[in-house]
Amino acid sequence: MHLAIEQALQERRFFKLICGASYRNTEFVATLAQIFAEAGAQVIDVGARPELVEAARTGIAAAKVPVAGLPLIMVSVGINQDLHFLRVEKDFNRCDDRGLCVNACPHEVFVGGEIRLENCLGCDHCVIACPSKALSLVARDPLGEVQSLLKQCLAAGASALEVHTGDGSLPELKSLLAQLAPLRDQIELLAFSLGAHGQSPAEIAQLAHTIRALAGPDILIQADGKPISGRKGEKSTLPCLELAETLFAQGLDCFVQVSGGTNDLTGPLARRRQSGIHGVGMGSFARKFIDLSPSEPLSEALLQEKIAKARILVESVAMSPLRV
Ligand code: SF4
Repeated sequence: MHLAIEQALQERRFFKLICGASYRNTEFVATLAQIFAEAGAQVIDVGARPELVEAARTGIAAAKVPVAGLPLIMVSVGINQDLHFLRVEKDFNRCDDRGLCVNACPHEVFVGGEIRLENCLGCDHCVIACPSKALSLVARDPLGEVQSLLKQCLAAGASALEVHTGDGSLPELKSLLAQLAPLRDQIELLAFSLGAHGQSPAEIAQLAHTIRALAGPDILIQADGKPISGRKGEKSTLPCLELAETLFAQGLDCFVQVSGGTNDLTGPLARRRQSGIHGVGMGSFARKFIDLSPSEPLSEALLQEKIAKARILVESVAMSPLRV
């Protein structure tokens, strides 16, 4: 494992910015990477596409980073139609142009009659808002051959990998791990995201132990509460902390970082509950917190303002250990 990452995890001060496994807007990925790299994030997590890795690298190169060599760029792959890899699809025969999706979408997908799929995170807010059932979530374009895709991402500058475990199918997981084996020594942080696919906490704990046995102790488990929710308040962040606490109670002995429903209250709540987590990943909420949209022109003054906001969020996790 990368030394500075291991140290941040051991100190329970690890922060990851999640751009979204299915997110494809390269320009905005570069901007987010720059802002959160300068704010002190240790990892920038993007979809597994070389162009997204290059975009993140461009953003990081433009940032004044607090720790040389960080953040790492992480790419995400998934098994079994993992819900992090979905995007919206519109059935024009059902649509009656009421436009409720326009306001429901927090990510500027429905703009002036266009559908900007590169901005879609697959959060499903628009699907819920549409009374005509014209919107649904479908799998993002298939990842293709994982090994060759990862080679391209590693060549482009990625050095961390997250495996989204979907419904936890073991044959698929084993097959993916076999494909990763020849690349393992190039991967400086290997993470597995689990939870939020309808499994019980006991099933998720069992899956975590199986992954730990298959992949070894040198891994990070991401306990996913409510994926892509972006909501504020303690209620939103509680499920991921409870899941992490279950994993620890079941004797899991590797690093655990929470995500899904995480926000500015995750760090303080984790400290109060003595959850024992080693870090926090944030996606939708982080964008909302810095209040920046993909189409907003970014002057130098505005950039500095967004970096200052991002720093508040990163420091809510990294300022002091998540367990005191
Ligand atoms: S609301 Fe979510 S799922 Fe719907 S278009 Fe916007 S980002 Fe995509």
